[in-house]
Amino acid sequence: MIVIFLGAPGSGKGTQAEQLAKHLNVPFISTGNMLREQVSQSSVLGLKAKSFMEEGGLVPDRDVISMIKERVTQKDCIRGFVLDGFPRNSIQSKALDKAMIEINREVNKVVYLEVPKEVVIERISFRRVCRRCKANFHLKYAPPRLENKCDACGSELYQRTDDTTETITKRYAIYLEQTQSLKDYYQDRLIAIDGNRRKEEIGQSISEKLKVTAR
Ligand code: AMP
Repeated sequence: MIVIFLGAPGSGKGTQAEQLAKHLNVPFISTGNMLREQVSQSSVLGLKAKSFMEEGGLVPDRDVISMIKERVTQKDCIRGFVLDGFPRNSIQSKALDKAMIEINREVNKVVYLEVPKEVVIERISFRRVCRRCKANFHLKYAPPRLENKCDACGSELYQRTDDTTETITKRYAIYLEQTQSLKDYYQDRLIAIDGNRRKEEIGQSISEKLKVTAR
């Protein structure tokens, strides 16, 4: 199964997409994680992407599209994959369609997480991420057991450089301008989910709607 997650930054799509991918036993593909990895390796793409990311803008379509095409055509994607963070605009959604036609596949479902603006802003402002395993914490509602240490692997937690108040506002505006309308593009396979609940409840709803059993 090929599933895309759509939603504002901070809507919880990364967390839910990763859970679903684990459950379906298919790769979880996050363009944000892939780009952050490139930045940390100071690769050509990473050096180019860094400033766009820090400012809360989108990395140029051409670069992200070739990165994702390369990834989804790898062998481990043969049974499907779950995408988080791509597509982010209509150029990217059309490029994805084209790539799918080339490999004789199609996007089966698109999960859209609905979360009010105030909630996503609050979630992002208090978000901390594990440097190693990328687990997410919320300093108020889901704090780590030990200060600044990941519960899962014990590594250090950090605040993403694009999780500042100014950048969040910009990322949200870009989401409204360019990404939200993809709901209409995918309306024939869209599953809208109330994302303003506990993550377990959200996961349960996604499984039910996708008819995936025992998560
Ligand atoms: P995310 O982890 O999905 O919030 O992405 C973090 C940042 O990576 C975004 O603010 C963009 O700068 C960049 N990025 C991630 N996915 C894309 C994409 N599909 N197109 C362009 N830029 C992206």
